Amino acid sequence: MRLSGLEPLIIRPETNFVNIGERTNVTGSKKFARLIKENKYEDALSVAHEQVESGAQVIDINLDEGMINSEEAMFKFLNLIAAEPEIARVPIMVDSSKWSVIETGLKCLQGKGIVNSISLKEGVEVFKDHARKVLNYGAAIIVMAFDEQGQADTYEKKISICKRAYDILTNEVCFPPQDIIFDPNIFAIATGIDEHCNYAVNYIEAVRWIKNNLPYAKVSGGVSNVSFSFRGNDTLRGAIHSAFLYHAIEAGMDMGIVNAGQLTVYEEIPNPLLERVEDVLLNRRPDATERLVELAGTLTQDVKRDVEDAAWRSGTIDERLKHALVKGIVEFIDPDVEEALSKYGSALRVIEEPLMNGMSTVGDLFGSGKMFLPQVVKSARVMKKAVAILEPYIAKSKAEEALENTSGKDMADRLPSNNGKILLATVKGDVHDIGKNIVGVVLGCNNYEVIDLGVMVPAEKILSSAIENKVDIIGLSGLITPSLDEMVHMAKEMERLGIKLPLLIGGATTSRIHTAVKIAPQYSEPVIHVLDASKSVSVVSNLLNNDNKESFTKNIRNEYIALKEDHKKRQNAKDFLSFEEAKANRLKIDWSAYNPKEPNKPGLTILNSYPLDEIRNYIDWTPFFMVWELKGRYPDILSNKDYGIEAKKIFDDANKLLDNIITEKSLSANAVIGLYPANSFNGDIEIYSDEKRHGIAGTLHTIRQQSIKSKNIPNIALSDFIAPKESGIKDFIGLFAVTAGIGIEKLITKFENDHDDYNSIMVKAVADRLAEAFTELLHQKVRKEYWGYAKNEELAANDLIAEKYQGIRPAPGYPSQPDHSEKLTLWKLLKADKQSSIVLTESLAMFPAASVCGIYFAHPESKYFSAGKITKDQIEDYRKRKGISVQEAERWLRPILNYDGSE
Ligand code: SAH
Repeated sequence: MRLSGLEPLIIRPETNFVNIGERTNVTGSKKFARLIKENKYEDALSVAHEQVESGAQVIDINLDEGMINSEEAMFKFLNLIAAEPEIARVPIMVDSSKWSVIETGLKCLQGKGIVNSISLKEGVEVFKDHARKVLNYGAAIIVMAFDEQGQADTYEKKISICKRAYDILTNEVCFPPQDIIFDPNIFAIATGIDEHCNYAVNYIEAVRWIKNNLPYAKVSGGVSNVSFSFRGNDTLRGAIHSAFLYHAIEAGMDMGIVNAGQLTVYEEIPNPLLERVEDVLLNRRPDATERLVELAGTLTQDVKRDVEDAAWRSGTIDERLKHALVKGIVEFIDPDVEEALSKYGSALRVIEEPLMNGMSTVGDLFGSGKMFLPQVVKSARVMKKAVAILEPYIAKSKAEEALENTSGKDMADRLPSNNGKILLATVKGDVHDIGKNIVGVVLGCNNYEVIDLGVMVPAEKILSSAIENKVDIIGLSGLITPSLDEMVHMAKEMERLGIKLPLLIGGATTSRIHTAVKIAPQYSEPVIHVLDASKSVSVVSNLLNNDNKESFTKNIRNEYIALKEDHKKRQNAKDFLSFEEAKANRLKIDWSAYNPKEPNKPGLTILNSYPLDEIRNYIDWTPFFMVWELKGRYPDILSNKDYGIEAKKIFDDANKLLDNIITEKSLSANAVIGLYPANSFNGDIEIYSDEKRHGIAGTLHTIRQQSIKSKNIPNIALSDFIAPKESGIKDFIGLFAVTAGIGIEKLITKFENDHDDYNSIMVKAVADRLAEAFTELLHQKVRKEYWGYAKNEELAANDLIAEKYQGIRPAPGYPSQPDHSEKLTLWKLLKADKQSSIVLTESLAMFPAASVCGIYFAHPESKYFSAGKITKDQIEDYRKRKGISVQEAERWLRPILNYDGSE
């Protein structure tokens, strides 16, 4: 099922449960109803925003209320949402029992939303009519289990109505089955009425039946209904919802309208509460309701907090280990492991039993969205430390065994009963690391053994290590364009050598489409693109499960073949101007109205070991949280309802680390800036060695957009922002290279020796932040002092992050100029390797990884853009200007070619 707001939401069989935000519903939320009635739409929008922030992947909007003109309100609210990208990025569920309101909503939706709901209540004809309209508007639908006779409450009624609706929709309306979502009615339990006792069971069993019998159909439901009898007791309701979802998801429930912020972790519902809740939900005993009501009276509102209490230290050794793992607490690991060792008598058993059990809980909690990445990385640290304590014991017992076993047979060299071995490496020439580290940690938590070969690893080394270590899967990672070719090369090598291992592809430069079109066809074994760390586990577990492997890889293969064909069809589409036409439609700046500022300090400026405490003030923290897969803007993220506490913890840890780095001077920040006379000429930018403008010190080459634009919109290239040589106007340009990664290796080694992935990832993330902050700081100094074209600029840190200043600093390899090889010109002029110890790898990645480089443009009309796809005629022209072969130009620009370039 493919849905979308501004961003796609694709629901695949392996997708975890999808949360639909429920708070923007006037029937369920008094607060929201009041805001709408009082016309406080701004505040109502913030309710929607909170939902998305706290993890809702779709938001349900219901404005059905006697005092509200629902149609008008729907129109207004959806239009307001459309202007809020933070909300509009998720698909919308238009919820109403009035068709006219739904249709109004459909007219306002961008992307592909969901209609909630249609049913057979008013007969087949109305049902079909509504379904056809929904299909025409391009939305998915929820079908309620409701027919001419009323709402289905028994299992039999639920399944027969759903079956009937399914047949009508698929056979008569030709509604795509993957866009049908059934809601087989979640009704309140524990109401005191006998017939209601089996309501939850009826729902769960109906879910199971639908998933087994109505191909591709999805199942949803409004979860809060189930606990309606316990209004006012949020703790109990949270526990009931979690337990209900646990069973319903297991039966196949795909999505649900929930208050994600309120859910308790199933595993943390203490007994006897859990038992009594489940007695009621699963209708296990006649007095279940009474017993739950009795317990409910004594419940404090703090079930969650109790568990976190220091009381955990009084549990059994198994309980303590599990708690330490789930909560990521390392403080007690030494004595606890020693104690476990004396209880179990063998180090292997300690790993196999309490530790692995604990980690599998962590894996499950993360897999089901109940734990967040930073927590998982902290859990992994506890596991690694525990294993490190046990390793000497294992080595000792192996040595003893070897003595006894003189025949010298192979001894298993992997840890006991792990799920499989995975080799990870960043390909030759590339330095991408953090994302790969995180994948490694997450896989480790799911009991896979991970061998991480690090960065810049040549193909031969990856392959020989894979064979030597008898791994089960190889995962490659890459950040920059040339790595794509390196991955293709790896796939060819694996084919040539007859290797039989699945190949996983990940990292910022990679994509499903590139994997499908370029890599997968080179290799007979499965090749799979893995979007992020949280997806890696399901992919790996499917690949290593003999029952699933075949169907899983077959599905992916078919999907990739379809993608490849689709890609072929799209090529050569006539959506492009010829390069000549694009040039004619360039951005025409009125140069006569512009007086370029001559730099105050022309030539090179070298700033090594710049004070880190000054740089620190320029940090943009938002991307830091993205590294940890926590979405949201700093500082709001610190008070996020679901993961604000985790966000605050990593923020504090990062700042402590920064304090340390600054006092110990363990990282140094270096930079080199060059400001030069320059003019544009035929799509290039000539940089002159001095103000006489005779000798050319270097030439920057630029890429021009070729997609067809609407009227009065130019096809831009970076050269448009510099005055043309013919104009006679003396213009200028700047180049820079910046790093904050000098000295990082030592820090990383220290943490890695301490089995501390958490801090090793943290150091890299912090160094990246410092490099970006240093870049921001220098850009400001350039504008105000060194170049001085904006010497009176007064902007606060936030305004800098929001790029409110005049001019830009595009980076080679980014959308405005995707060719990384332009960095060679920067290095030729700046000598950043000698001046600042930033070197370029053979693929032109910068090393240390925490480095940034770019080009300064001062003109007020200069802005970031994306070059988009380009055609062969531009490549021909570009490569001549640049003096390279067609093949080489195609290699650097591969991702933006609109045709299949040469290999
Ligand atoms: N505050 C951010 C700044 C870095 S991202 C942080 O701390 O991470 C923004 C930078 O990416 C820009 O300054 C520019 O160097 C680069 N960039 C963004 N869009 C670009 C584009 N379309 N083309 C080239 N470079 C771009």
